[in-house]
Amino acid sequence: MTTLSIENLGVKVGDQQILDGVSLEVSSGQVHAIMGPNGSGKSTLSNAIMGKPGYRVTSGSITLDGQDLSSLPTWERAQAGLFLAMQYPTEVPGVSLRETLELALRARGKVNIDVKSRLLEEAGRIGLRVELLDRPVNVDLSGGEKKRNETAQLAVLDPQIAVLDELDSGLDIDALRACAERIEALTDSGLGVLCITHYHRLLDYLPADQVHVLVDGRIVDSGGPDLALELENEGYARFLTSNVESAGVTVSIGGLGAAKEVSKPDSDDPFPDPLA
Ligand code: ADP
Ligand code: MG
Repeated sequence: MTTLSIENLGVKVGDQQILDGVSLEVSSGQVHAIMGPNGSGKSTLSNAIMGKPGYRVTSGSITLDGQDLSSLPTWERAQAGLFLAMQYPTEVPGVSLRETLELALRARGKVNIDVKSRLLEEAGRIGLRVELLDRPVNVDLSGGEKKRNETAQLAVLDPQIAVLDELDSGLDIDALRACAERIEALTDSGLGVLCITHYHRLLDYLPADQVHVLVDGRIVDSGGPDLALELENEGYARFLTSNVESAGVTVSIGGLGAAKEVSKPDSDDPFPDPLA
């Protein structure tokens, strides 16, 4: 049993505070979904968990079974059992997928795995064309092929906890189903998943135990699977603060450094005649 525990996490990128006081816990076999508007900090959370340079932890902790990860480089976090499927998977020219996975597995003490046949097996399960396995990591793959490729890597590496940043973006319906069902099967054998998504559809095949709503760097609500359906139908309006002031209408969105203010113009006509 493994637990990824995020407590009161604050993260800055440059001078900007992106995450503020985020807490959640993902254990083996569980699926936690994170939903939220664009720019709310979802990818920042996944990058901070994985230790991407430039994402500075300003408060709180990220621990895996009590071991504090926040000062470890990315490769040590991977070695400890974390995996990140990136929103925009990186192309790595000149680097073979098979050799990368062999080295990664060896670094985790798993030496007796036939990576070539495991990759073929996984590619078959999720409909990834086998000739793409011979390309350097992600090079010249379509968006959807990259997501399938990441899913195959995840299954071969067999980490303890996987963070999936919009795995569903770019996948057609059949591929989405195949990838999500593959990951769901991995949770049955103990994988814990933190799954960032905009759509309930992914969760149809990879059911979430809990859904969290991230708005402006904070978790503003958590609930069961129904919350994902509600968000998909109704959007995030109820989580966005709005103030009506007597001297015109001011809508303020969010509370952190990135707060944006929109003032209602004097006229209701968006195309007033300047000579009138
Ligand atoms: P989401 O994934 O929820 O759409 P992100 O975490 O990508 O949101 O971004 C949250 C905010 O942080 C945005 O305002 C974005 O511009 C900013 N941000 C994230 N990463 C960087 C970065 N590397 N450099 C500059 N700004 C960043
Ligand atoms: Mg994102």
